[in-house]
Amino acid sequence: MSVAAGFEALYGAAPDGVWAAPGRVNLIGEYTDFNDGFVLPLALPHTTVAAVSRRDDGVLRLHSGDVDGGIVRLDVADLEPLSGGGWAAYPAGVVWALREAGHPVAGADVHLVSTVPTGAGLSSSAALEVVTALALNDLFELGLTRPELARIAQRAENAFVGVPCGIMDQMASACAVEGHALHLDTRDLSHRQVPFDLAAEGLALLVVDTRVKHALGDGAYAERCAGCEAGARALGVRALREVDAAHLPAALDRLSDGTILRYVRHVVSDNDRVARVIALLDAGATRAVGPLLTEGHASLRDDLRVSCAELDLVVEAANAAGALGARMTGGGFGGSAVVLVDADRAEDVAAAVRKAFADAGHAEPGIFPAVPSAGARRL
Ligand code: ADP
Ligand code: MG
Repeated sequence: MSVAAGFEALYGAAPDGVWAAPGRVNLIGEYTDFNDGFVLPLALPHTTVAAVSRRDDGVLRLHSGDVDGGIVRLDVADLEPLSGGGWAAYPAGVVWALREAGHPVAGADVHLVSTVPTGAGLSSSAALEVVTALALNDLFELGLTRPELARIAQRAENAFVGVPCGIMDQMASACAVEGHALHLDTRDLSHRQVPFDLAAEGLALLVVDTRVKHALGDGAYAERCAGCEAGARALGVRALREVDAAHLPAALDRLSDGTILRYVRHVVSDNDRVARVIALLDAGATRAVGPLLTEGHASLRDDLRVSCAELDLVVEAANAAGALGARMTGGGFGGSAVVLVDADRAEDVAAAVRKAFADAGHAEPGIFPAVPSAGARRL
């Protein structure tokens, strides 16, 4: 059944429209977005599709075809941050954030279905927020820009759901363009579409979903944020993005705390890797990006310490089987990795990763190619 037909079956009338927003993977630039730094994500072909009708009576009805539990009915005037609500807090939080920002969103009926794997570090949460924000922007003629919608979505997740996250995921879902990666400056949200046509160069980028999520990750994000802020303070800068890679050794000399030193070294070097990867992409030297991915992984594993055995195994097995490079992507402690390969080696590399997982007694990972896809749109 189409999403529109599903909507009609639930609510008894056709929707006003249908919108889609993608999940994302980040090619390089990890844990940089809360340091005002740079990231390079791309949108996936996997999307959250929402059929939505406007309501003007203060009622918000939400339904996901992907969870049991029926329609969630809320009154927009009563929406309260951190009030729970499970999955419905994400779209309800978007309505709340829009109203908080003074936009007259008076209610909606929503039915959605997603092909973005949830909890795999591929940003199903941002896809859900952004599709809701875009639909309401159109239906209530709010006239917000894509970066403004991304900010609303981030605020929903931070303040209403209560998950601390940067702006990368929402910007990628809202602003990506097919065949490109998004070079984003998270300080001011300025961005550039960087051509990333893997197929034309005989390459593929595999996403490996380890299907694990270690509890260790809870709280680790906030701890890394605090450590980086302490590092910035010690170095006398507003944020670590202001530390140039050329000055990194001198900066590290000024840090006495070993943990903070490692965090600073990761953030400054990963910001630099974003710049180096973009220079390679602009020069048409995509194959040469591979070693920088692996270098970025080592930094996340050894300096920031947000990897885990499964992610390390993906990188090790893929590279041993002839991948050009690989790294964990997203917050770590499980979730997904990306692997750059020659397209004609992709099957062999995927098989090697599956075998390594089987040999280590891990569940079979999900593996699929990341085709750089379009950002949020009305269908
Ligand atoms: P990720 O963004 O990496 O997929 P998160 O934990 O940030 O993982 O977000 C996953 C949560 O988002 C789910 O637990 C659920 O609450 C919500 N969510 C995402 N997609 C859907 C969907 N299609 N239907 C209902 N809830 C969803
Ligand atoms: Mg998320």
